Amino acid sequence: MRPPDQIRITTPHMGNLHLLLDDLFGRLGVEYIKPPRSSTKTLQLGIKHSPEFACLPLKINLGNFIQALEKGANTIAMAGGHGPCRFGYYGIVEERILRDLGYEFDFMMLEPFSDGAWAFYKSFASLSAGLSIRRLWKTLKVSFAKGRAFDQLRKRALMVRAYEKNRGHTSRALEEAEKLLAAAVTAAEIEAAARESLGLIESVDQEREREVLKVGIVGEFFLLLEPFSNFDLEELIGDMGVYLERCVWVTDWIAPHRDNKIFGFPKGLIEEKAAPFLSHNVGGEGRETIGSTVLFAERGFDGVIQLLPFGCMPENIATSILPKVQQKHDIPVLTLTFDEQTGRAGMVTRLEAFVDLLWARRRGRTVSTPPDALNREPVSPCHECKVKAV
Ligand code: SF4
Repeated sequence: MRPPDQIRITTPHMGNLHLLLDDLFGRLGVEYIKPPRSSTKTLQLGIKHSPEFACLPLKINLGNFIQALEKGANTIAMAGGHGPCRFGYYGIVEERILRDLGYEFDFMMLEPFSDGAWAFYKSFASLSAGLSIRRLWKTLKVSFAKGRAFDQLRKRALMVRAYEKNRGHTSRALEEAEKLLAAAVTAAEIEAAARESLGLIESVDQEREREVLKVGIVGEFFLLLEPFSNFDLEELIGDMGVYLERCVWVTDWIAPHRDNKIFGFPKGLIEEKAAPFLSHNVGGEGRETIGSTVLFAERGFDGVIQLLPFGCMPENIATSILPKVQQKHDIPVLTLTFDEQTGRAGMVTRLEAFVDLLWARRRGRTVSTPPDALNREPVSPCHECKVKAV
């Protein structure tokens, strides 16, 4: 590892994670090279150099790294992990591909805190000269609080967007709110900025008396967190007047005990709800997808949308179980699978049909829908393949 003052670190782009990391690395005195926002170009780079069978998130991450290295990054930080799915291998595979391509960089694998506090500390200690455990703890505490505030903003925006009077105003308010919060430094400033920025979102002109559908979003964490990977589905469906809640958030995902402060339901409860259908960990968010669907049904949501990358093992297990949850809890579930061949138009059509079906159910019309009818792929091939050969 090079000396701390020469480190220019980068990470994958995943939703608002860069806002938290920008703050954290800034406090540690490390230069953070934010990966450019993921785009078609990012994906093209990723698929050009990844194994064809790799999951979509790996391809997007690889594209992020190439773009950041081209921007001057010389160190890559990537989350580690372990089975039963492929996630634990991601970092190793990505590092090897990048070295084969001729890039020179240091690679830092951040193993989960739950796997050992010492290994976690050692990874950070190499970034900042003389970093004590105490200083790291205090730094993480403040940055994490800010990260939670960023997540709260997005969570609130998902709810407010359904009621907004003028399309796009919630998204604009969110952008402003995130800028305001990003500028806060001390714990007191963060607390004040969190309140003020939340106020910006609440102040969007709304028609609160408008009747809206309530939909829960579940699925594989990267697909849920990174809007590029799902064609900005949340904004799209929010614009259809749908109130959304999502079961995975950046700070919930990285919190050591998965207390899920942002989603609002701790991991233990989700597992309890999943238990009648799936009683053990299948990797990724497989079990959380089942448990969260049950929770959404119990809370009276109109429907649930599951997002997964093509070939995702944990989510495919969940997909095969969801029809039982659907039947037992009488809640429609739409499963959307994404890979580099997925077209936006096909997804929009399915979302519109789903929303129509939910309105019909709400209004009490008879809708005869076999449990898996929503999850059939469109019959005609998609003409809007967004990826062309590089
Ligand atoms: S959770 Fe799914 S998409 Fe993510 S690494 Fe595992 S198999 Fe791949």
